[in-house]
Amino acid sequence: MRILIIEDEKKIAGFIKRGLKEEGYAVDSAYDGEEGYRLIAENDYDLIILDIMLPTCDGITLCRRLREEGTTIPVLMLTAKDSVQDKVTGLDSGADDYLTKPFAFEELLARIRALLRKSVKQTTKLQAGDLVLDLITHRVTRAGEEIALTTREYALLEYLMRNAGTVVTRTMISEHVWDIDFDTDTNVIDVYINYLRNKIDSRFQKKLINTVRGRGYLLKD
Ligand code: CA
Repeated sequence: MRILIIEDEKKIAGFIKRGLKEEGYAVDSAYDGEEGYRLIAENDYDLIILDIMLPTCDGITLCRRLREEGTTIPVLMLTAKDSVQDKVTGLDSGADDYLTKPFAFEELLARIRALLRKSVKQTTKLQAGDLVLDLITHRVTRAGEEIALTTREYALLEYLMRNAGTVVTRTMISEHVWDIDFDTDTNVIDVYINYLRNKIDSRFQKKLINTVRGRGYLLKD
């Protein structure tokens, strides 16, 4: 899942970015409204965290513009303390939810999960055969046996499982699992697919992760 943070306060943006990366999200940041708008046009985000008070184009105007253009990406708006009017205007501009600063990071995570659940699939668990991924605890099991994954491996597996039964290309994977610093010339995706295969498939007769030659990868039961 790839998230864009649009927040001009670098300290807050950095804090959110670090925390989300630790949870396995791919995260980009923009420090003003126009830069955010440009990144949304160029990349395929699953969610946007949008501050209201921003240089060049404020969050309300940006959100309204995105909705007018038909963008349906979930928007979580960050509002200043105690400003009811901000919240109302934010939701009216097309935001899906809001969070008042300062906030507990756990609450931000819970709201992100809720928004992604709504937009992607009403579920807290993904399953393919005997492979189960719990989106809340981040626990992964196969045939009841726990599998320890790094945050990046988890993010990649989550993406494959959300798209189970369909072929995902390397470009799709890089856009949803890696951030803007991803170097498209490397074979890092194949390397991570191999890590996952070792952990998920190697000890089992039935292989869930398949290579589709010339196209990408396919996770299926
Ligand atoms: Ca701000």
